[in-house]
Amino acid sequence: MSEREEADRAEGVYGRDALAYFNLTNFKQYNATYGAEGGDDFLRKIATVLRHTFPDAPLARMSSDIFMALVPAGDAQSRIEEAVQEVNGLLEGENTYLHAGIRYFSPQERVPVSMACEQAKAACDSIKKERSRAYCIFSEHLRQELEIRSYVISHIDEAVENGYIEIYYQPVVRTLTGKLAGMEALARWRDPVYGFLRPDQFIPVLEEERLIDKLDRYVIRECGRQLRRQIDAHRPIVPISFNVSRMDFQLMDVLSEIEAVVRENELPRDYLRIEITETAMVQDSDKILKMIDRFRGNGYSVWLDDFGSGYSSLNVLKDYHFDELKIDMEFLRAFNDTSRKIITSVVMMAKAIGIHTLAEGVETREQVRFLRSIGCEKIQGYHYGRPMPYDELLVHCQERHLRAETREEARIYEKAGLFNVIMASPVALFLDDGRNLYMAYENDAYRKVMKGVGISGRRAVNWIIHSLDDARKERLRAYADRVTRNRPCKVSETFLLDGRRLRVRAKTLAGLPGFHIHMAEIVDLTRDADSL
Ligand code: C2E
Ligand code: CA
Ligand code: CA
Repeated sequence: MSEREEADRAEGVYGRDALAYFNLTNFKQYNATYGAEGGDDFLRKIATVLRHTFPDAPLARMSSDIFMALVPAGDAQSRIEEAVQEVNGLLEGENTYLHAGIRYFSPQERVPVSMACEQAKAACDSIKKERSRAYCIFSEHLRQELEIRSYVISHIDEAVENGYIEIYYQPVVRTLTGKLAGMEALARWRDPVYGFLRPDQFIPVLEEERLIDKLDRYVIRECGRQLRRQIDAHRPIVPISFNVSRMDFQLMDVLSEIEAVVRENELPRDYLRIEITETAMVQDSDKILKMIDRFRGNGYSVWLDDFGSGYSSLNVLKDYHFDELKIDMEFLRAFNDTSRKIITSVVMMAKAIGIHTLAEGVETREQVRFLRSIGCEKIQGYHYGRPMPYDELLVHCQERHLRAETREEARIYEKAGLFNVIMASPVALFLDDGRNLYMAYENDAYRKVMKGVGISGRRAVNWIIHSLDDARKERLRAYADRVTRNRPCKVSETFLLDGRRLRVRAKTLAGLPGFHIHMAEIVDLTRDADSL
């Protein structure tokens, strides 16, 4: 080896070589199934395949399931693909698979070995979730990502201190009333060097590097301050929900942090809601189970975020107590018959076990109509507004006539929200302020019955109620009061409408003095008599 070559080898890699980095995804799972010995055996098999594919290349096992090789650049891709496929052929039916990352070098390039290894690794990691891909080549795009990654890690403190982190708020709307029922706090990073960074550019990095508590502490504090500003300005208030990462539970005492914010800002605890993603439950499940109980025991409501995106959704529901389910937006992406059926049964199931429902990622009027029809209680998505700074959101709500619901309203609707409206019998929901009745919801079966009587749609029903003569109005009022008094029992009454006899059975679902929500079933007795 010449002096020059020797120097090059010492300070970096260059020439006609390519660096290949091999990593097994889910090797832990393989070990759990086949034991440490089975795992060791499998690693030996990988070594044999690699040695056989690259007989002359420097080849090493770097750590548990990671191998690296310096291979000739010429046919690197096809040979790496061959090797990966051969190994994956041995893993059929397993959830474990091999991937490779390739780092090519141009002849003039000088790169420190450690950096080249990191880059090959980054290429490999970028396809971690794509089982069908054998390899990925390190590219300019990945270089930028790596650069941002290390920037994020070294600048998170500065970003928090200097206010580069901003909190955006996205409106959450009550389906039954169309009123603003809450908002979700979402972090944004506006950087003086890199400009606008998306959450997926910094949140996973902070989680992996165990720095996410720095961000989440700040977000919780900001939410508290924002709520205090609202209270001081005597503006209407809706609860704010914020995201807690699995890693947060290891890095900080989340409950103490929230309690401190509540204390410092003198907030009622139900102004803050905690969102935990389904994937958080996979590890440390005992610890998280205890934490959730502690949150709830202290008066905080805990929401299960991204429901349906993970592998263990139903188990999570069985084992943990959540107050609300956020149905993952992926279900709405493919808005077809199957996804509608799945969402419908998720909502029914949630109500059956006493959990509230919210659908995320709602973008169209059609989706809103569908979610309303199945009794999904809340909606969040671009249809009602993107995440935006708080003051912008206030203007946005004003322009869109999104009025904030009061705490009393919220309490009543939450109670009524657990009522299942997906049923074969005709059911409608009426709002009652002690003077007027307003039909807020009807299910399909109810609509059909009313259509049979020549009345189509809620608007028509409400118009009829509004234009009743005094005697009929009084009778209806007396009936509604009887229903309220007899809560929780059902009260029947027969009404004559255009010569048809309609029997109504109603009960009060929830209420406070002066405001109630009634559920009413209806039967067209005329039709029954006709058809006999
Ligand atoms: P997430 O908690 O599921 O938040 C909802 C994401 O969906 C947000 O993305 C929001 O902007 C987006 N979204 C809302 N409505 C729609 C819609 O109609 N259509 C589409 N296509 N997207 C919609 P964002 O803000 O980019 O946040 C991504 C994820 O980053 C969040 O997912 C959350 O898991 C995480 N995240 C955001 N802020 C924080 C934070 O402060 N702390 C922690 N730990 N995680 C955060
Ligand atoms: Ca969330
Ligand atoms: Ca979500």
